[in-house]
Amino acid sequence: MKNIRNFCIIAHIDHGKSTLADRMLEMTNAISEREMQSQALDDMDLERERGITIKAHAIQIQHEHEGETYIFNLIDTPGHVDFSYEVSRSIAACEGALLLVDATQGVQAQTISNLYLAIEHDLEIIPVLNKIDMPSAMVEEVSEEVIDLLGCDPDDILTASGKTGEGVDKIFEAIINRIPAPEGDPEAPLQAMIFDSVFDKYRGVIAYFRIFNGKIRKNDMVQFFSNKKNLQANEIGVLKMIQQPEKELSAGAVGYVITGTKDSSDIKVGDTLTLQENPTPTPVKGFEEVKPMVFAGIFPIDNDDFEDLRDALEKLQLNDASLIFAPETSAALGFGFRCGFLGMLHLEIIQERLEREFDQNVITTVPNVGYFAYNKKGEEIIVNNPSELPDPTVLDRVEEPYIQAQIITSPDYIGPIMGLCMEKRGMIKNQVYLTTNRVELTFELPLAEIVFDFYDKLKTISRGYASFDYTPIDYRASDLVKLDIKLNSEAVDAFSSLIHRDKAAAFGRRLCKRLKEILPRQQFQIAIQAAIGAKIVARETISALRKDVTAKCYGGDISRKRKLLEKQKAGKKRMREVGNVQVPQKAFLDVLKLG
Ligand code: GDP
Ligand code: MG
Repeated sequence: MKNIRNFCIIAHIDHGKSTLADRMLEMTNAISEREMQSQALDDMDLERERGITIKAHAIQIQHEHEGETYIFNLIDTPGHVDFSYEVSRSIAACEGALLLVDATQGVQAQTISNLYLAIEHDLEIIPVLNKIDMPSAMVEEVSEEVIDLLGCDPDDILTASGKTGEGVDKIFEAIINRIPAPEGDPEAPLQAMIFDSVFDKYRGVIAYFRIFNGKIRKNDMVQFFSNKKNLQANEIGVLKMIQQPEKELSAGAVGYVITGTKDSSDIKVGDTLTLQENPTPTPVKGFEEVKPMVFAGIFPIDNDDFEDLRDALEKLQLNDASLIFAPETSAALGFGFRCGFLGMLHLEIIQERLEREFDQNVITTVPNVGYFAYNKKGEEIIVNNPSELPDPTVLDRVEEPYIQAQIITSPDYIGPIMGLCMEKRGMIKNQVYLTTNRVELTFELPLAEIVFDFYDKLKTISRGYASFDYTPIDYRASDLVKLDIKLNSEAVDAFSSLIHRDKAAAFGRRLCKRLKEILPRQQFQIAIQAAIGAKIVARETISALRKDVTAKCYGGDISRKRKLLEKQKAGKKRMREVGNVQVPQKAFLDVLKLG
């Protein structure tokens, strides 16, 4: 155990975690040059394309130092605000963290929030200034920021380039000398934390765990603490670039277990793994339940695919415990699921993963945050869907979630940022200079105002220099109304939203305008209206059109004509009938991209 080091890399997004992880794999020969493609740990296609890490990934590497062989379990973590949940899971499995700071950017909002998570879990922190190969690296200024932040010694700060490999050897040394080896009693009852899991078509659920106490052997009967379910460990092993089976793993180790179960509800991320014989009396502590912040309906395009969609969501949930869902019905869309997400990026990712990994074509409704409503009898009603809002005649009040936002910026942008936060119904709470040219602003804002376009706007007004992070604080009473969108007088429940009264009319106008742009013209006129109760607050009209796709075929080529008609039919499948109006599924998501 004394030669094991379990650590993660934490940083603000794009500060170079995945690139540094690549270098570490390469320099320890965990991966051959031929296998090397950049961001080796980002194995989802989606991650490579977007260049971001969504899932935390774990890998074991071996490193020789002064004649000893060390085992490093490295956990790469995502940096986007939406995925801080993944970060806290990685942190709970480690003794140390490399705190990576881009030397051209300095300390940013998620540098600080991730650092706080690591400190809460008592991790040993190794600060590393990264990207020092770049001419614009400001090693001295950024060192000062890090010293201010950590109260560390200047000598404690390492400098490196994940790109060239410079300084990575010093990082290895620091990992060995500064991060403590795991403690724990191999003879105690098994106590391991499941920090991730994936579903494999052939092998079923694969759970990744970190052992804190005890031992696990191949063929042991394991028990899951939360549901007391017993299953046989058909295979256990460690995570290299491929899974490597082992006979036994003990305290300190990071590994995987395959029980053969295909039932995703058996195994929950965050649960404690123990043995049926001599189970641990206490679960692993320090693991927080995550609360979804944004809700939206997800519906199959074809209602016959409802059960397939459920199955796909269950499997995705296994890999992403922060996703929650429950069945719901919509007048416009039929049977589907109300899902909870960590944020808008998370929603987009889930939707894309459903399409790519599970072949599900889905329609997503207008997202909203979760509210608490109170009726006149004082009863509390959870409102995760605008349709759940009680009728105004019995409604006493609605409370909406508030967050505390931390924004770090250059003082030049304080004015525009204050303006943005006011426009978003925010209140400034604090302003602290970190250095002469960087200031930290603290705001309280309604969550609903930041989930859609806040982050993009912030980036624009600060020319990309402001960074942002937030934590939920409480619920506050607010003057919210339900805004409906009607197509030829028929309300489309999937377009309904809850919104502050002062903003409802303007939002309604934007939605109507947007729909006018994205709905295809049809053989009759379409009236698009936004309404609060019976009151119409905005209206647009799409004029009639007779569309003849075969017209441009000059009557000649019959097979080409038939092809075109078939194509049009296939296009129809991606449409939804609302009353007599055809709505392309794209409209349900595009309508939100209010630019
Ligand atoms: P992550 O979001 O923290 O995982 O960051 P990535 O590893 O994906 O890196 C973000 C971007 O910075 C990519 O374009 C990398 O090529 C680049 N990058 C990462 N490390 C370095 C470095 O040490 N030097 C330079 N010049 N670029 C780097
Ligand atoms: Mg990454």
